[in-house]
Amino acid sequence: MVVSKDHPRYRSLVIRELLAELNKAGLVSTTGLIAHGRGEAFDYLLGETTNPNALEAESVAVAYMLEAKNPLISVNGNVAALCPREIVSLSEIIPAKIEVNLFHRTDERMERVCAHMEAMGAKRVLGRNPDAKLNGIASDRSLCTREGILMADVVLVPLEDGDRAEALLHAGKIVLAIDLNPLSRTSKAATVTIVDEVTRAIPNMIDSVDELKTDLSKRRSLISTFDNKANLKKSVQMICKRLQKD
Ligand code: ATP
Ligand code: MG
Repeated sequence: MVVSKDHPRYRSLVIRELLAELNKAGLVSTTGLIAHGRGEAFDYLLGETTNPNALEAESVAVAYMLEAKNPLISVNGNVAALCPREIVSLSEIIPAKIEVNLFHRTDERMERVCAHMEAMGAKRVLGRNPDAKLNGIASDRSLCTREGILMADVVLVPLEDGDRAEALLHAGKIVLAIDLNPLSRTSKAATVTIVDEVTRAIPNMIDSVDELKTDLSKRRSLISTFDNKANLKKSVQMICKRLQKD
């Protein structure tokens, strides 16, 4: 389908087309499409723009990644479809490992998502050959690698389910979530929640790496003054305000 650039929802329509195409190709799961719809609804309510509190959380998340011994970015089908090159760039400049973890895991789909990330520039993608398990999750999402998720101290989880976010926290990890729903279990559980659309959030994070890399005191002060609960509250208030205004 050709989407006209004049359409007011141009960006959203282009992303939908991309996800539908990659669903046909077996990269994005059908439930991944539904999860994206939930994200879109919240983005609509938030004004489809990066809010100041999201920008703050993005800097804090980068500060945590730069302070980490073993930072890792966990990638699922939607993330691989939406912003693979940006994930690769962020993983290179931090630097952080990349591990693929799928809710609907089959060897075939795992291979597709890993190969897609490699085709988009990732030099090393973990996850194909799991040799460890994350406690506290019943599904195959518990499968992980020793070298990657098991050893990681800081994990960025864009678009994560609440169960897995909680299991990562129970394993003692700092969890950085990107989730447009400020009310989700993931958002409430995470150490830092970025309430922003993933294709805006990752480029914003990349933009803040340079400055934070050389400024240790700024990193530490960002981390020590951040209050996730208060930050989430600001997103909820923003939604309420927009609903009342219109
Ligand atoms: P939880 O299990 O944490 O309570 P949930 O069940 O509502 O969350 P899941 O399907 O488990 O949702 O996870 C997907 C989450 O990702 C949703 O909260 C959704 O708002 C968010 N999301 C979907 N697409 C995007 C996107 N493009 N950018 C940011 N967040 C998104
Ligand atoms: Mg869920």
